[in-house]
This record gives sequence, C-alpha cells and structure tokens, in this order.
Amino acid sequence: MDCIFCKIIEGTIPSSKVYESEHVLAFKDIQPAAPVHILIIPKKHIPTMNEVADEDDAVIAELFSAARHIAREQGVAEAGYRLINNVNSDGGQVVYHLHLHLLGGSKLGPLLADKLS
Ligand code: 5GP
Ligand code: ZN
Repeated sequence: MDCIFCKIIEGTIPSSKVYESEHVLAFKDIQPAAPVHILIIPKKHIPTMNEVADEDDAVIAELFSAARHIAREQGVAEAGYRLINNVNSDGGQVVYHLHLHLLGGSKLGPLLADKLS
C-alpha cells in the first residue's frame, strides 16, 4: 500500500519511535511544530476519522491511552499539551492514515493560526 505511515509501521521507512502497543505506534514528527511533536497512529490503515468503524472502538481508545502515556513520558502532562486530528482537505490533512498530533513543550497559542473571515 502506498502509505507513508504504513511503511513506517512495516519498518521500510525509518522513524524515531517513542511508544508502541498492540494496535498503536507513536513516533516523532519529521517537521516538528513544537518542542514536543509526536504522531500517534493505529497500526490498522484507516484513512481518516470518517472511515473509523464501530469495530475500531478499542483501537481509538488505545490512541488516547497512548497519548496519556506519551504526555507523561515526554514531561508535558502537567504543563499541558494539545491533541489534533486533521480530517480531509479543510482540516489540512496531508497523510491519509489516521493520526493524532501530540504537541507540547511550550505555550501553543490560539487554536487556529488564522481567524475565519
Ligand atoms: P497531517 O497534515 O496529515 O495532519 O500531518 C501529517 C504529518 O506527518 C505532518 O506533520 C508531517 O510533518 C508528518 N510526516 C510526513 N511524512 C513523515 C515521515 O516520513 N516521517 C515522519 N516522522 N513524519 C512525517
Ligand atoms: Zn496507512
């Protein structure tokens, strides 16, 4: 499958892994937007949040438990952090394999870079 994140899961593209569980992998974003910028992905190829099925409930729960674990391990849990899931074109999604961005390590500013006009 021509998916960058599936290749990272397979190990054919290298990554800086920070966490792995049965259904989830997490690694450092190649272009960090904050001092801590981790991508948390299901090992199952799900293109976007729109394709999540009822049978994926356990996987989605595991993404969030991974986020809690990683936030503690990266030392940002108490100061705070942000979880982002971009969906499709308006959401700014670039890689079509479901992922959470975990961002922290500094004040992140307003939710959106540009206000709606
Ligand atoms: P999206 O815009 O789809 O929500 O986010 C995709 C993210 O994947 C971007 O922040 C981008 O920097 C990251 N990314 C794209 N290709 C790679 C890669 O090969 N390795 C890693 N570690 N991150 C990547
Ligand atoms: Zn994939």
